[in-house]
Parts: sequence; C-alpha cells; structure tokens
Amino acid sequence: MAKLVILGAGIAGHTAALHAHRKLRGRHELVVVTPNRKWNWIPSNIWVGVGFMGVDDVTFDLAPVYRKLGIPLYQARATTLYPEGSDDQPLPHVEISYTDPERAGQTEKLTYDYLINATGPKLNFAATPGLGPAGHSHSVCTFDHAAETFSRLEACIQRMERGERQTLVVGTGHGTCTCQGAAFEYLFNVEYLLQRRGVRDRADLVWISNEMELGDFGMGGMHIKRGGYITHSRIFAESLYTERGVRWITKAGVKEVQDGHFHYETLDGQSHEQAFDFAMLLPPFSGTGLSAINRRGENITATVFAPNGFMKVDADYSGKPYEQWDPGDWPETYQNPDYPNLFAVGIAFAPPHAISKPAQSAKGTPIFPTPPRTGMPSGVMARQVALNIADLMTGKAEQPTRKSSMARMGAACIASAGAGMLRGSAVSMTVYPIIPDFKTYPDTGRSLRYTSGEIGLAGHWIKYLLHFGFLYKAKANPLWQVIPE
Ligand SMILES: Cc1cc2nc3c(=O)[nH]c(=O)nc-3n(C[C@H](O)[C@H](O)[C@H](O)COP(=O)(O)OP(=O)(O)OC[C@H]3O[C@@H](n4cnc5c(N)ncnc54)[C@H](O)[C@@H]3O)c2cc1C
Repeated sequence: MAKLVILGAGIAGHTAALHAHRKLRGRHELVVVTPNRKWNWIPSNIWVGVGFMGVDDVTFDLAPVYRKLGIPLYQARATTLYPEGSDDQPLPHVEISYTDPERAGQTEKLTYDYLINATGPKLNFAATPGLGPAGHSHSVCTFDHAAETFSRLEACIQRMERGERQTLVVGTGHGTCTCQGAAFEYLFNVEYLLQRRGVRDRADLVWISNEMELGDFGMGGMHIKRGGYITHSRIFAESLYTERGVRWITKAGVKEVQDGHFHYETLDGQSHEQAFDFAMLLPPFSGTGLSAINRRGENITATVFAPNGFMKVDADYSGKPYEQWDPGDWPETYQNPDYPNLFAVGIAFAPPHAISKPAQSAKGTPIFPTPPRTGMPSGVMARQVALNIADLMTGKAEQPTRKSSMARMGAACIASAGAGMLRGSAVSMTVYPIIPDFKTYPDTGRSLRYTSGEIGLAGHWIKYLLHFGFLYKAKANPLWQVIPE
C-alpha cells in the first residue's frame, strides 16, 4: 500500500483530497495535514467584510467531512520536508507540528510515497511596516480578518451617520501584491453598502494599487468582448471607478502604514502620503516557510523552493527578460524537477515569472503585480495532479499524463461589485488563456471569443449560487464531483 500526503486543506488541497480519495479509496493510503480546523470559501470573505454574510456562512468544520470520507486528518502545520529520508527515518517524510489544542506544539514525522504541497500563501504583512490587523490597516484574506474589518467599517459608517466625513482606502499594501481582484470586489462592495446606508456623500473612496493601470488585475490587463464591442479592461475599470466616484492611485507601492495615514512610492520614485479613517490593504504573498533537508542533513530549501518560498515545479525558472516570456515557461504537471514524488498546486507552486510586465521605481523598488492564482485554476490543477498521482500509485501510468498549464487553461471569475439580491451587481469575466499567448493571438494575447466581461445583477446571482455550490461540493455531499472546480 502506497501513501499520499497532502499538505493544506484549502481550495487546492481539499479538492486534491476529494479526487484522490475517489480514486484510491480502499487501495492506497491518503492523509491530509492542515493547521486550520475550518474550511473557508475564501471568495465569500468579501461579503463577511461588508456584513452581507457571517463567518458561519463561509466556513464549516473539516473534521466531520474527513471522518465521513475516512481520510485521516492531522490538524498540524508541515514544517520540514525530508525528500531523501533521514538517519532515523530512511523513507521520504515530512515533519509536522500539531496545532490542535490537545497536542499543540508536538511534532511527528509522516512518511510518504507521494506528497502534494497545497499550503497556499503566507500573508506577508511584515513586508510593509504597520500593515495588517496587527498594525493599522485591515484585511479580508481570512474569515476572522474579514469579520473584524466589518466591525471597523460599521464604526466608520456610524460616524458618517452622525455627519462626519470619512476617507476609506482600499487596495494593495505593498509593491509586489497580487489578488487585486479581491481588493476590487471589496472596494465596490463597500461603495454599495455606503449607498445603501445613505452615507455615500460623506465618504471619500480611494483605490491604491501596484497595477500599471486600472483593470490590470495582475493579468497584464485584457481585451474583452462586451456587448459586441472590444474594450480594454482599463477602459472598463476606469468607467466603473468614475461612475461610482472612486479616486484611484496606480503604480504605487505602500512603504509604511501608520495610525491614520500611510506612505507610498510611485514608479517615478516620488514619495507620497495618504490619510485614511479606514484602510483595507492586501498583503503580499510568500510561501508558507517550509524548509527541506537532504539525506546528509544539508539544508536544500533553496533547491526545492524558489526565493519567494513557493515550491519549484516543472516551470522555466531561468529568469528570462519580459521580451522572451513564453507560454511554455508555465508548468504543466506541477512536479518538482529534483524529487518526482513531490508536487505543488494552487498558490503553493512557484510561478516562473509575473504575468503583468515587471517594473521598478526610479529608486529601484519593484512595483508590479505578482501573478494571481485564483480558485478555478487552483482547483483544476489540484484535480489533475491528484488524478495523475492516483494513476502512478495504481500502476496505470509511469509519468503524469494530464497537463494543466495556465497557458492553456481558461478561467471564469465573478467579481462582486455590490452584494444585494435586487440591486447588487458583479463583473462576470472569462479569460482564455490565463497566460497571454502572443504567438497564437498576436493582437491581444488572448482569444477574443473566450475572453469576455459584463457587469450586472445576474452576475451577483451567479456568484451567490456558486457560493452554495462550492460549499456543497467541499462538504463532499452526494454527487459533489459533478460540480466543476
Ligand atoms: C479575499 C479573497 C477573495 C478571493 N476571491 C476569489 C474569487 O472571487 N474567485 C477566485 O477564483 N479566487 C478568489 N480568491 C483566490 C482564492 O482564494 C485562491 O485562489 C485559493 O484560495 C488558492 O487555493 P490554495 O489551496 O492554493 O490556498 P488556500 O485556499 O489559502 O489554502 C491553503 C491551505 O494550506 C494550509 N496551510 C498553510 N500552511 C500550511 C503548512 N505549513 N502545512 C500544512 N498546511 C498549511 C492553510 O491553512 C490552508 O488550509 C480570493 C482570495 C482572497 C484572499
């Protein structure tokens, strides 16, 4: 009996676990290690951050689902990989440190034949002094952050109801952030809530971002087909920001957040200051800090992981200049080149480079979006990797056969722009391929047939229904597998 260990039970790890279980049940061993007790449908944290949903609406306890499926679940954090084994345990193994209250801090070594790293991002608030809930700004990256953020927003709204003016800033809190789409959703949900509460005229809403221009979303922007016309996402976004009275600052890297104001640098090297009463600023992401040791006890973290802490897979990490970027740089099987029984999916894999064009300020500060890895591609690659590993374990294949490169994958994304069943709206976008391919699509890098965007109430309903669909699937309810990733 062979053993698959999955690190992380977030969107990618949990999806991989469900599919691996379907294929390996009764034949091979599967265990999942994750420090969190609850599963969280992260996209709906935006709605927790504006009070449209509560924490219980976007989470559920993992343990009963894993008990139902019969998959051992370790509530623990993986700390160190020993891909060649060690003196006291010759088989490849991973050291874990328990996070459940009964065994907190105890460690254990779990052996594996195959391992999927789906540990997602570390929310690297420390990259910007004063950033984040422990500092002076707020976040919606986790459900508890989002709930706390809503209580601060509510206090701000109550001040407006008493007649005070407030400045609310939403965006990215560092020059190398990703996930601009999430900040975009939060901005427009706040704007919508202010309208509903009748205080919009007392709020100055400001967007700050490391994007070169609005509508970049870390994807280098996109041309979209909309109502029969071809529009660039910049025009689409600028119209929306203008319509909803949001001032925007782009090409900006936040350098330090203090009580009530922050400092930022723009690409021209100038320093600026922005005052705020409320600021939701996303952190940059890095790997979760796993290390790796070889059989001789040497630290090989820099071999297995890229400098940003994400795990190296079958991508081109040669550091090519932007002009030479190619869709073929992106990974297809998510297999580590040095240890073929190691895989990384979702945010945990190291991208070969950005998607948006990199830029540095006149002072040398990098200010550009790092590549997003949203839920749909994370789920798709997790499923494909789980199925490939199941084939390897059951002897159906000797190499991974399914390929899921983001350069040949499309993505659908629905960005909420106001949560309301009658007056809400969302931007429904499809993109193909996620990574631009200027050889196949010389004009825009993407297929105009499959890259589209539209804003309206229907989008809100779809996002709302997807919320329930994905929670249903994640709970492994009957026929979960018919709901696509
Ligand atoms: C506010 C917000 C809104 C978003 N909205 C959307 C959206 O509308 N649509 C969309 O497609 N995407 C959205 N995304 C992106 C989406 O959430 C990510 O693509 C997705 O969560 C990535 O999945 P993942 O499994 O790689 O990481 P995660 O879902 O973060 O899961 C990582 C898991 O690994 C665990 N872990 C961490 N460290 C360790 C360790 N050392 N050992 C073991 N386990 C560990 C974590 O506890 C977690 O369970 C949003 C993101 C944010 C922050």
